[in-house]
Amino acid sequence: MNLLLIRLIIFAVLFFAGLKLYRIYREWKLDRDDLLSPDEGTASQGQMVRCRYCQVHLPETDALRERGDWFCSSAHRDKYLEEQKSD
Ligand SMILES: [Zn+2]
Repeated sequence: MNLLLIRLIIFAVLFFAGLKLYRIYREWKLDRDDLLSPDEGTASQGQMVRCRYCQVHLPETDALRERGDWFCSSAHRDKYLEEQKSD
């Protein structure tokens, strides 16, 4: 066995060990990033509600609330309340 071959083997072992460590580190980092940054997309949009009258979905911030029901506009709120009265 000559010295060059031994050096080559040591180099190869170090190379693959480094590659393996790098992959472990990368997976660990990805897992940690997932934990640190929860899904902000849904949180910033707010709750989606449904108009009681026309069943259209809209953000809670754009909706009108009346007696526990949500409405897309004051017109639909008035129409719905009008229909409730006639029943
Ligand atoms: Zn509506």
